[in-house]
Order: sequence, then structure tokens, then C-alpha cells
Amino acid sequence: MGRLNGRTILAIFAHPDDESLACGGTLARLADEGARIVLLCASRGERGSPSGPVPDHELGNDRARELPDAAAVLGIRDVLLLDHPDGNLRWAGVAELHAQIVLAIRHYAPSALITFDEDGLYWHPDHIGVHERATTAVRSLGADAPPLYYVTMPSGVMRAIVDAATARGWTPPAAGFWSLPPNAFGDGQRLPTLVVHVEDCVPRKLEAISCHRSQMGAANPFTSIDHQEARRWLGVEHFRRAPEGVSNERVLEELT
Ligand SMILES: [Zn+2]
Repeated sequence: MGRLNGRTILAIFAHPDDESLACGGTLARLADEGARIVLLCASRGERGSPSGPVPDHELGNDRARELPDAAAVLGIRDVLLLDHPDGNLRWAGVAELHAQIVLAIRHYAPSALITFDEDGLYWHPDHIGVHERATTAVRSLGADAPPLYYVTMPSGVMRAIVDAATARGWTPPAAGFWSLPPNAFGDGQRLPTLVVHVEDCVPRKLEAISCHRSQMGAANPFTSIDHQEARRWLGVEHFRRAPEGVSNERVLEELT
């Protein structure tokens, strides 16, 4: 029986893999403490960056199959995979996604809700859209709203991982990993109000990331760094408690 037995945490992200990359360690720690973790993923990620030759129409199905594997590694008990259009989450189905998030909050009565911060980790419009929908959903619940935590990636982390992997012989794709410059990750992060140490969960976080095979491929920077480097760069996760969410519950604070 963990000290968070009976508590529920609702994590809301945009694509399969966001949960593992953004805060897989914290979700695993919360699950270890007995919390029920519910993941709401807004899209099937059908417009992601396939690591191999996957027919376009298959990518969403592939990613939908990968997500439960990652969830199992992290101890996520419930996965709610929605089918909003990947790439258009900020503008399409706004009212519907808002209503689905409100419904999930009412149904699961979480003690805390986790989603992206306003920088969307690296200014990804879908991530920003999910940040906006989760924020307005929580705000609309007024006094019933659970506390809302925004997750950010510490600035410089992805750069360090890519540099360490490159020093060990990994060759970054010409266009950048996922067509992104590493410095984009954490570029807009605001100061965290919570720093959660997840060093002991890093092997599971890495395993969960690797479950997203269609996005990671056989050779990616995460599998090219050693254990110490992984602990150093992936062993700390940053959160900011949002002004929305008026409940006094302090579930994430219990991890610090
Ligand atoms: Zn994403």
C-alpha cells in the first residue's frame, strides 16, 4: 500500500510518446506510490515522424499499438486514446476536446492533472493546443477544479543528450531528431515550482520511450547514451503549478 493509494492522477498529452518523454519518471513514481494514473492522449499521432518506411495510413495504428506498451512500463492503468486530428489540435475540435477533458475530470475526480506548459516543450502547436484545452477545462470547473501542473523540459537537456550520443558515435539525422534542433526543447520554459527527482525511474522512462518504436527507431540518442548520462539528463523533471485548480491537494509536492 503506497502513500498515494486511492489517489488518481490525470495526465493529458497530445501524441503517443509525449507522456514518456515529458514526465515518464514522475508518472512511474506516482504509480509506484499507489496512485492510479489515467492518460488521456488527444490524437493517435498519425502525422508523426516515422523512423522507418511506414505507410502514411498505418502510422496512427502503429502508434496506437505502441502506447499501451509504454503505459504498462510506466504503471499507467488507464489509457484514453482520442482521435483528434494530429497536427490540428490547436484549431480543430476545440469544443469537443474541452468537453472530453471536463468529462474525464468529472469521471475520474483526479487529485492532480498534468499537461504541457505554454511552451509545449518545443513550441509544438498540438502541445500548446492541449495546454490551452486542459487549462480552460480546469478553469471552467471553478471550485471543483483539481490542481493543474504544467510539465516543462529543462533547457539544454536535449542538446546535452544529443551531444553525448553523438560523442558515442550516434549520427543525428541531417534535419535534426524529429526534424527539430535540440535547442528547441525547453527553449521557452518558465521557472519550475517543482523539481521531481526520478533518477531511479530512468531505466523505465527509457524503456517506455523505446516502446514508441515508430518514432524512435533502432538508433536514437536515448539508446546511445550510457547509464550515468541518462540519470543525469533524464533523472529530473520540472513542473509549474498553475494558478488554475484551486484545490489544496498537494500530490506532486509529496514527491519532492
Ligand atoms: Zn507530441
